[in-house]
Amino acid sequence: MFLEKLHRLRHTLALRLTAWYAGIFAASSILAFTLVYTLMVALVQAETDEDLKEDLQEFASFLRLGGLDRVKREILLETQGVAAADVFLRLWSADGHLLMTSDLASWPELPDPDTSDGREGDTRQASFATLTLPGREYGARSIYGAIGLQAVLQIGESLEESEEFLEALREGFLLVLSAIILLGGPIGWFMARRALRGVEDVRRTAMEIADGALDKRVQTSYRGDELDHLAQAFNIMLDRIQALILGMREMTDNLAHDLRSPVARIRAAAELALSSGSTKTDWETLASDTTEECDRLLEMINTTLDIAEAESGAARLRLSQIDLVEIVTDACELFQTVAEDKKVTLETDLPQHCLIQGDLQRLQRVVANLLDNALKYTPARGRVTLGLIDEERRVRLSITDTGVGISADELPRVFQRFFRCDWSRSEYGNGLGLSLALAFVRAHGGDISVHSQLAEGSTFTVLLPRSPRANRVA
Ligand code: ADP
Repeated sequence: MFLEKLHRLRHTLALRLTAWYAGIFAASSILAFTLVYTLMVALVQAETDEDLKEDLQEFASFLRLGGLDRVKREILLETQGVAAADVFLRLWSADGHLLMTSDLASWPELPDPDTSDGREGDTRQASFATLTLPGREYGARSIYGAIGLQAVLQIGESLEESEEFLEALREGFLLVLSAIILLGGPIGWFMARRALRGVEDVRRTAMEIADGALDKRVQTSYRGDELDHLAQAFNIMLDRIQALILGMREMTDNLAHDLRSPVARIRAAAELALSSGSTKTDWETLASDTTEECDRLLEMINTTLDIAEAESGAARLRLSQIDLVEIVTDACELFQTVAEDKKVTLETDLPQHCLIQGDLQRLQRVVANLLDNALKYTPARGRVTLGLIDEERRVRLSITDTGVGISADELPRVFQRFFRCDWSRSEYGNGLGLSLALAFVRAHGGDISVHSQLAEGSTFTVLLPRSPRANRVA
């Protein structure tokens, strides 16, 4: 169990991020320290060398002012008492005879200086050396050079102070590095976990949805970072999927409901015909009623398929140059009798021509459906007006009636498949006319909108582009 958990942990992004974070942090700290340390070493050495050089120059001036005696006196003064452990001096004559040394008890096995240069001339030619002497804990730095024409001097100085300083620097850094490694891991882990919490939320929600909780959403914050955008996009996708599923569910419910009544009617009529001594006329009536019901069912099924085809983009429009004025006039002629029977006035307000690229049959069905509805839902003495406005890049077809109107809460749903306003159930129809019209118009790249006032009437406006971009047939 524990091993399994460990194995899973090894593959987490959080752990990899943490390792990267701690690694990069430690590596950059080591690099920064190495740089600082190298600079410090160079700086400390330069400072020591500068001090030694100044001392040598000072002895040169002692020689100038007071001769060798003065130099010897100053050597003794310089190394009095405990100072002899930190500093040593050795004086030679110009021809290489050792004239004097300071107390060398603390400086065992002092090597002869490198005499390749600096024996003659002034202190500018002095040479420096770093000495490591047996028995001494710290090293030393020495300068060796002429202090005048008759003498050469070597001054050595213990490096105890600078080495102690550099050691303290190293120790300090080691301490900081250990703290970085010790704390870097947990801090990196905490930061990685915090940053990835959003991903975990999305994963958990996806799992809950997979288990059936379709209405679950990922919690979003107001940070507006990448994970927030991911969560928002995820939620939008979920809303869309849920709406699609609900729409499908409603549609199948409605379809089942609308199919059940005619099938039940056909069955009841057939049962009745079988049970009693039916005459030939009864059988003929049954056959004709059944044909009628079947036609209605077939129409419903075909319309549903047409809508699905147009909505999915699979419907290929048969585009040609068509005159919308002609389509509207033909539809009005076709419905004139219906209008007269219902005592509804049918009017048009049309330009001479209105040419667009479109699918003739599908646009004829759009106009017919909208005109059929307008007449169906307008009582006697009402008026239905068809108007057509030719705008520059699109055309606007409006069908206005003075009919029963649609209530504000039902209005957003009239384009849904199988939706019928409550009061319209008594009229013939299957609630598919508007869905089909909208699907066909959208396939042309257009849209339909509706304005309606209960008991005053409705206006359906169809906007069609002059030439649709998609679904062309060559
Ligand atoms: P139906 O076959 O019921 O007419 P539609 O899809 O064509 O189906 O219309 C859906 C519903 O929208 C109708 O049932 C009706 O309630 C409402 N409706 C459509 N057109 C009109 C209109 N011109 N006036 C009032 N209500 C309308």
